[in-house]
Amino acid sequence: MLGSNDPLSEVFEHFLSGPHIFKDREVLRPDYIPSHLPHRKDEIIHLGKILAPSLDGVRCSNILIYGKTGTGKTAVAKYTLDRLTKKGEEINASIRSSYVNCRIAGTPYRVLANLCHSIDIEIPFTGLATGEVFDRLKNTINSRRLFLICVLDEIDALVKDCGDSLLYELTRINEGLESGKLIIVGVSNDLKFKELLDPRVLSSLSEEEVVFKPYTALELKDILEERANAAFVRGRLTNGALNLCSALAASEHGDARRALDLLRVAGELAEREGASEASEEHVRWAQEKIEKDRVVEVLTTLPLHSKIVMLGILLLKKSSHENSTTGDLFEVYKEVCPRLGVDHLTQRRVSGLINELDLVGLINARVVSFGRYGRTKRVSLGILEEALVEVFKRDPLFDSIVNYHPQCLIRRHKKSNKSLEI
Ligand code: ADP
Ligand code: MG
Repeated sequence: MLGSNDPLSEVFEHFLSGPHIFKDREVLRPDYIPSHLPHRKDEIIHLGKILAPSLDGVRCSNILIYGKTGTGKTAVAKYTLDRLTKKGEEINASIRSSYVNCRIAGTPYRVLANLCHSIDIEIPFTGLATGEVFDRLKNTINSRRLFLICVLDEIDALVKDCGDSLLYELTRINEGLESGKLIIVGVSNDLKFKELLDPRVLSSLSEEEVVFKPYTALELKDILEERANAAFVRGRLTNGALNLCSALAASEHGDARRALDLLRVAGELAEREGASEASEEHVRWAQEKIEKDRVVEVLTTLPLHSKIVMLGILLLKKSSHENSTTGDLFEVYKEVCPRLGVDHLTQRRVSGLINELDLVGLINARVVSFGRYGRTKRVSLGILEEALVEVFKRDPLFDSIVNYHPQCLIRRHKKSNKSLEI
């Protein structure tokens, strides 16, 4: 027995005897669909009106829903389809619905396989030709006279990676069906998605369009209030904290997911700390944590040479060359590459990587002019140094080089009167 020396017994006891913040934290998870969706009544009614003819066996229009992330598209589409199929069951209509997240499915084959699974057709994980899977879907819809309404969520991701040929085939499937119908509800987070589509696909897919606008701070507050009432023990969340979550999420782009994340993480941090309530301070803390987690995720998935460029900036910063030029950065990059066992890229390619890193906000690059000596770019870190160090320390390739002192900087330092510009 571990007895009183067990380091965890105190942790567990502390948790059990401490003030409980949540009564049901699941309610704050992004995939939870509440039974009431405030401020989306118009969109729900609009979708319902477009899809209602299917209850009567009449083909309804395909729909394209678009709007920024966190504007309730997935929640509204799932909610409406759920209600429609329940109504269908009630009146014995052969309506089936299917939901596929195309980004997660990843390929046309897997999107089709998911659609097949939703109407109980067994499809192996791989092995069949995509055309074969398509035919099985079509034949089953036909023989069972099904009315299949499929939500293709994050459809923009699929089209960006794999083109629009699957959509082309799906929008034409009804032409070859004697009975049964397939209706597509496409959902896109990217407002420019339509530009990626062949005009024929676009016109069939967007017979009806529904646009979801970002939520305002007041709307977010209503949404959060309902979720918070279900998630938090009464009195364990301050009003100020709730308002701050809504305000912070609204100042980005009215993203309900962000607002809910802030609320959940603030509650978790308060609970872990043994605080009696989640306050504004916990929300601010949650914001930092979420931002840091996001940065860590982006950094972890960077390609190797972009990571080395990031390492270069970190090493420059550690050697107090915070606002260095791209020339300095290239020198350090070139010196570090062989130490990691890789060949360096040309300065031109590295400039391209720097621009990309600037675009995603990991670094700040700004052009400075030196009068008749020309122009150069100065680069600095656009994120918290700790997040970067954390990622490198976790990476076996970079772990040992985080504290490296580049020789080129030491040499420069010695000629301290000389300018650093290249
Ligand atoms: P999108 O698909 O547009 O990115 P989601 O539908 O996934 O957005 O919504 C993000 C999160 O916010 C989900 O947890 C969802 O339940 C919640 N949400 C969005 N809109 C509402 C609303 N009107 N009422 C309650 N919760 C909402
Ligand atoms: Mg979504």
